[in-house]
Amino acid sequence: MTPQHAHLADVEFDPELIARHNGNGPRYTSYPTADRFIEGPIGAQYIAALRNRQRVRPDAALSLYVHLPFCDTVCYYCACNKIATKDRGRADVYLDYLEHEIALVRNEFSVAPEVSQLHLGGGTPTFLTNAQLSRLMQMLKEAFAFKLDAECSIEIDPRRLNDGALELLADHGFNRMSIGVQDLDPAVQKAVNRLQPAELTQAVLEKGRALGYRSINLDLIYGLPKQSVATMQATLSTVLSWRPERIALYSYAHLPERFMPQRRIANADMPSATDKLAMLKLAVTTLLEAGYVYIGMDHFALPEDDLALALEQGTLQRNFQGYSTQADCDLIALGVSAISRIGDTYAQNHRNLLDYYNALNQQQLPLAKGLVMTRDDEIRRAAIHDLLCQSTLDIPSFEQAWGIDFATYFTPDLEQIQTLEHDGLVELNQDSIDITPRGRFLARIIAMCFDLHLRDAKSSAKFSRVI
Ligand code: SF4
Repeated sequence: MTPQHAHLADVEFDPELIARHNGNGPRYTSYPTADRFIEGPIGAQYIAALRNRQRVRPDAALSLYVHLPFCDTVCYYCACNKIATKDRGRADVYLDYLEHEIALVRNEFSVAPEVSQLHLGGGTPTFLTNAQLSRLMQMLKEAFAFKLDAECSIEIDPRRLNDGALELLADHGFNRMSIGVQDLDPAVQKAVNRLQPAELTQAVLEKGRALGYRSINLDLIYGLPKQSVATMQATLSTVLSWRPERIALYSYAHLPERFMPQRRIANADMPSATDKLAMLKLAVTTLLEAGYVYIGMDHFALPEDDLALALEQGTLQRNFQGYSTQADCDLIALGVSAISRIGDTYAQNHRNLLDYYNALNQQQLPLAKGLVMTRDDEIRRAAIHDLLCQSTLDIPSFEQAWGIDFATYFTPDLEQIQTLEHDGLVELNQDSIDITPRGRFLARIIAMCFDLHLRDAKSSAKFSRVI
């Protein structure tokens, strides 16, 4: 173990400190965050960014994301952009439009751009029939050149997985999967309308492994209705017996006034803030004792997993899918609500399916909003990246990379950091900002000091609680 790894893997769970600093905050899968995107025409800038990429850095790594919004049933906790239906025919229509969108994007390239990463997310990607999944992959492979070692991942709902789908996806080059679990307790599953027996999840995990899928991730949630420290302990004990390579542990944000399905959750079933913190403490302690490395934010991985190795080597990245091992990639995102980033340009598709279809009917890219980063955005994005991915910011190299005097450029930001230093979350000195082991669970709070857009205090209320 290198000294750097010893520092980064080091984490201390301090419930009192976490409770004191638990405010609303962005997850920084992008900076500026998506709520800052400006409604209106962004197509011209996005096309210019695609063309510029082709001219200036055609060989730069490229990532693809496809959003598949359909879900067979709705989980009551869910805040994703999804469409509840049982009609698989709707996915055929959706694929027709996706094909159209892919063609419009592909038109901007003279040769098929090389792809090093693909992610299918949703909604429920496995809502699609096997024939629909095959069609989607054929469309993508005709338009893009997938590298032989491309990382291809998919979000799996074990309840909606057709026979032969995992084999078919493996044949198409899929080698990663993330399985939605949330909680294994039957009463919790009933309260959130997601009945998913543990045996079913285990069978999918084992089949994935047998087919060669690596770095399999399991999503868990704490703070759900009917959850308690006891149910959490039981869920963790079963999940750990399967030893998934990665575990994501998300906090449930109960915002029924914003998300309709959450209104089906009875307030009386919600755990108290104290119980929620106790569940988090139990989960973190249990995972660390079981040998998992805390990667950052909500993510844990086994020490031999690529994410833990990237953390150790200082190459960890953060993008719209969360933490990643891939170099800072351009991202072409397809489908309703999907967000692309090419160079300094973010562009988001329409969130509403009809708006998305209408734009494509008019032969236009289905973009609703976006943003071209200013130089200040790029500088702040780099600072937030270093803090969230490396837990440290090296001031001399940052000054050299961006041609700034750090102390002058970030005067108000450093004043905010100093207040967090008093609480022991961070150490600030001449040459570096270092997040302490106690501060690692609150890295979002530290990153927020560099978020210029958040100085508009009203905007923070839109984000979920940090814990
Ligand atoms: S959690 Fe997944 S399966 Fe459940 S409603 Fe949300 S997107 Fe659909």
